[in-house]
Amino acid sequence: MTENASLQSRRVAAVPRGVGTAFPVFAERAENAEVWDVEGKRYIDFAGGIAVLNTGHRHPKVVAAVREQLDKYTHTCFQVLPYEPYVELAERLNALAPFKGDAKTIFFSTGAEAVENAVKIARAATGRPGVIAFTGAFHGRTMMGMSLTGKVAPYRKKFGIGIPGIYHLPFPTGDVSVAESLRALEFLFRADIEPGQVAAIIIEPVQGEGGFHPAPVELLEALRKVCDDHGIVLIADEIQTGFARTGKMFGIEVSGVEPDLVTVAKSLAGGFPLSGVIGRAAIMDSAEPGGLGGTYAGSPIACAAALAVLDVIEEEKLLDKANRLGEKVKSAVTKAAQRNDTVAISGVRGPGAMVAFDIVKRRGANEPDADATKRVTQAAIADGLVLLSCGVHANTIRILMPLTIEDEVLEEGLAKLEKALVAANG
Ligand code: PMP
Repeated sequence: MTENASLQSRRVAAVPRGVGTAFPVFAERAENAEVWDVEGKRYIDFAGGIAVLNTGHRHPKVVAAVREQLDKYTHTCFQVLPYEPYVELAERLNALAPFKGDAKTIFFSTGAEAVENAVKIARAATGRPGVIAFTGAFHGRTMMGMSLTGKVAPYRKKFGIGIPGIYHLPFPTGDVSVAESLRALEFLFRADIEPGQVAAIIIEPVQGEGGFHPAPVELLEALRKVCDDHGIVLIADEIQTGFARTGKMFGIEVSGVEPDLVTVAKSLAGGFPLSGVIGRAAIMDSAEPGGLGGTYAGSPIACAAALAVLDVIEEEKLLDKANRLGEKVKSAVTKAAQRNDTVAISGVRGPGAMVAFDIVKRRGANEPDADATKRVTQAAIADGLVLLSCGVHANTIRILMPLTIEDEVLEEGLAKLEKALVAANG
C-alpha cells in the first residue's frame, strides 16, 4: 500500500466522513505555490487551502513574524491580558476599511465565527432579529453560518431547522435578474417580515462556494439604499474575497458600495486561524462588554502573522499582481476553451485573480456538467495540480493560486490545467 493509501485508510477509520476531503493526498511540506506529499510528489497549488494563501505557503516574512511572536508569548487570552499585535492589527484594518468614517475591528478564529458575530453586532445595534441572505451563499458551518448559507446539500442536510428569522433572496446569476431579486425582497417585506424587524442583509461581493459569481453592482447599490431607508446593517462577507484576491483589498471595493460591517478570515493571516469583523465604530460598540470575544479569539500568533501579511500585500504590490495574474489565467483558459479537444468551457470570469469558469455539456450551451468537472480536478491532481471546483451545480472550476506565485510555476500550472481540460474530455 502506498503511503497516501495507508494514511487514507487510517483517516477513513479515525475521522468521520462528514468532513469531506477533495483528494486522498497527504501533505508533507509546502513552499509558496508548491506542495509535496508524503510520497515526495510535487503539486502546484491552485487552491491555496481554499483562498487562505494569497501570500503563499510559509511566506518568509510571515514565518519570521510568527517565530518572533512564539518566543515572546503564545496565549494570554485578549479578555484577560491584552497585547499589542491585536490592537495594532485592528488599527491597520480600521485604516483599510472599505467605508468612510471611524472603524473598529474585533477578532475571532474562524470565518463562521466572524459571521456569527457580525450578526450579533447587527442585532445589538438595531435591536432587531431578522437577517436576509442569498441563495447560493456560503457563510459557514456553525448554526448561524449554516442557517445563512443558501444551499441545502450538503451544508444543511440532516441538520434540522436553522435559526429562525433568516430569509433568502434569489441571487442574480444566469436565470435570475437583479430586478427579480429585488422584487423578491419587496415580496419578503410584504409577506414575511417588515423591514423594521430586519437587523442585517449579508452578501458576498463575489459568491465563493456558490460559484464565483460577482454580485452585480446594481444589486449592491440597491441593497445599500434599502439598508439606508430602513436602518438595516449591510454586511459584506469578505472571507473569500478579501486581502487582494480581487485586485482590491476587499471585493466590495470593486463596486464602490460601502458596507457597514465586513467579515474577514482566510487570507488575513496567511494560514493561521484568524477572523474578524471590521465595522463602523458606532455599530461595533453596540454590544455590551463581555458579549463578544472567545478564548482563542485574536490569537497573538495569528495577529503577528496577519501584520506580516498586510506588509507583504503592500511591499509586493499584490493588488496589481492580482490583476495581472487574473488576466494571464483568463487568457490561458479562454485560449484553451477555443481548442476543440477540451471539455466544454463557458463563463470565464472574475475580478482580479478570483477567476473561475464553468464546465458545460456542450459548447455554446449552459447545461452544467458536474461529472466532467470532477474529471478535470481528478486529472489535475494526478498530474500534480491542486485544483478546486465549486458552484451550486458543482461545475465551476475556481483558481485560487497564491498571488505570490512565481511566473514559471504559474506557467507550469496553467499548462497542467490545459492538459486536465483535455484529459477530462469524453
Ligand atoms: N464565508 C465565506 C464567504 C466563506 O467562503 C467561508 C469559507 N469557505 C466562510 C464564510 C466560513 O469560513 P470558515 O470555514 O473559516 O468557518
